[in-house]
Amino acid sequence: MLKGKTALVTGSTSGIGLAIAKSLAQQGANIVLNGFGDAAAPKAEVEALGVRAEYHGADMSKPEQIEDMMNFAASKFGRVDILVNNAGIQHVAKVEDFPTERWDAIIAINLTSAFHTTRLAIPAMREANWGRVINIASAHGLVASAQKSAYVAAKHGVVGLTKAVALETATTGVTVNAICPGWVLTALVQKQIDDRAAREGITVAQAQNDLLGEKQPSLQFTTVEQLGGLAVFLCSPAADQVRGQAWAMDGGWTAQ
Ligand code: NAD
Repeated sequence: MLKGKTALVTGSTSGIGLAIAKSLAQQGANIVLNGFGDAAAPKAEVEALGVRAEYHGADMSKPEQIEDMMNFAASKFGRVDILVNNAGIQHVAKVEDFPTERWDAIIAINLTSAFHTTRLAIPAMREANWGRVINIASAHGLVASAQKSAYVAAKHGVVGLTKAVALETATTGVTVNAICPGWVLTALVQKQIDDRAAREGITVAQAQNDLLGEKQPSLQFTTVEQLGGLAVFLCSPAADQVRGQAWAMDGGWTAQ
């Protein structure tokens, strides 16, 4: 379905981003990977699906590096047809204890980077009259939790950005949507589970059950493969009129 298209996925060296990159690659899209850590293994995993993969290590908190990454993608593949803004970090603390440097980093990586990639990707998408921007927001883009002021603010911001750009592109073949996952068992969440187990003196398994029980009525994690499937749907012709949505995949979290 996506043969000949190019997808750039930020924060795709692990977790949700890597899974979405692989789901899009399975549909034939060439992939530009980004993120920290080992890039060779994710690149090989994507290439094994029979497409071309390139990697750029831009730090999503640095606008000039983001610009360099977008130029790199265009030089390798001509243009970016599918932009997945996925890179994200978390920090948990009460607002009065929140380190200002962590606030700035979360807003920069989880929100402002999506502004920069989007503004740089949209012109070529408009010209081709086809494009997909998929922003990985969160259930925290729709509702809040205590101790996550920066993350909740950034993710609500991502949902707002999604709606605004969807309106700006509404008469074109470019669609802009957000995906709002509930709990997904990735490195980002494992850290919160481990911290909770240590803080409360309980087992990791108990901390995991408590975490799900608190928020996610299904009592099951959303999987990275399910999120990949939703991203593929949003790239399909069936989703041509899905515009400006914040699509929850959260085991019922935001239905409560
Ligand atoms: P993860 O920690 O496994 O992956 C995060 C990715 O972002 C990694 O590839 C990392 O290298 C990259 N990254 C971090 N800082 C970066 C920076 N400055 N520049 C470039 N890349 C950077 O986490 P994940 O759970 O896969 O999270 C992916 C996205 O999904 C995030 O935006 C997160 O907020 C969102 N999300 C996650 C969950 C969950 O339960 N795991 C739920 C809702 C939303």
